[in-house]
Amino acid sequence: TAAVAAQPKFVKPTAEKPMLLCFNENPLGMSEKAKEAVAKAAMYGSRYPFAQVIAFKKDLAKFMNVRPDEVLLTHGSAEAIRATIEAEATKNTVLVQPELTYGDGADVAKRNNIPVKNVKMGPNWSIDLAALRKVATAEAKKHRVLVYLVNPNNPTSTIADSNEIFNWIKSQPKNTFFILDEAYAEFVNDPSFKSCNELVRQGFDNLVVLKTFSKIFAMAGMRLGYAVGAVNVINKIRDHVAYEVMMNQTTLAAALSELNDKEFLKESKESNDEAREILYKALKELNIPYLPSQTNFVFIDLKAPLKPFADRMKTEHILVGRPFPPAVQWCRISLGTPAEMRYFVEKLKEFRQKGWV
Ligand code: PLP
Repeated sequence: TAAVAAQPKFVKPTAEKPMLLCFNENPLGMSEKAKEAVAKAAMYGSRYPFAQVIAFKKDLAKFMNVRPDEVLLTHGSAEAIRATIEAEATKNTVLVQPELTYGDGADVAKRNNIPVKNVKMGPNWSIDLAALRKVATAEAKKHRVLVYLVNPNNPTSTIADSNEIFNWIKSQPKNTFFILDEAYAEFVNDPSFKSCNELVRQGFDNLVVLKTFSKIFAMAGMRLGYAVGAVNVINKIRDHVAYEVMMNQTTLAAALSELNDKEFLKESKESNDEAREILYKALKELNIPYLPSQTNFVFIDLKAPLKPFADRMKTEHILVGRPFPPAVQWCRISLGTPAEMRYFVEKLKEFRQKGWV
């Protein structure tokens, strides 16, 4: 398959080099072209990156089908999450989010003394949009409300209904701003999924879409994310980042290379799809329930506490996901390469024979 070209050589995990199925990274690593671009960019290491930032933003805007002034570059989407919350919060703000989601939004809110309203999940750890809307509507009568929605969600890997999200945002509820974290959107296979970028294009300014180069682009260590929103939204968030024009030359070079490398993106996605199928097949054989994944990780139901399982996997030099309360008996498995997943599946089967799973 096309994915083979990008596959790193499989090496059995060791204590020094464990198999990392814990951080939702891209196991392929950066493309060879991107690595070459990084080496070349070192020649400009002594120069400020003004021109490169402008050039990169042009390409990125084209990629997202928006205008350059509707995009803000950030140091990972982590910075975009923080800057957005700090830009949009007033003295009287609450953050509304599903109870089981990526923790950064709530962490930033707490550091800024913004109360967090966690809304209970629906069946199978789904995002209960109706319940979220109800809570947000009630809160908006007294407070400014920031809704933090990760779609597809982390750690559950599932998507919330795009039409329902679109309708909610388009209804422009008063005192309400939507933060859409779409870190994993490029992995989605379900055709019903729509990126909220479309709403930015339609001119809505009550939302921002946050994106990252850490996942499908395989650049988690290079630190690049971005926000897409109406010009007035982007300008406000820009006031809360260090300096948009001061990004890292090597990061920009790698990102520019990968942005224009359709083959690498295709290989990344195909490899992820293949790895997911290998894991699914074993989970079905072993009768281990899991949620239907639209991302580069799978959330599995151990029906037992996570810690003994994670500790035993660690003994095999495999690191799995951390605890995600309230789903205390579930484990998030980040997808490795297909070869890594075959190895992991072997271990799972051994665990079954030992009665450990
Ligand atoms: N948003 C979500 C949903 C994530 O899962 C992650 C990282 O795992 C991030 C944001 C932060 O990623 P980064 O700062 O590397 O862009």
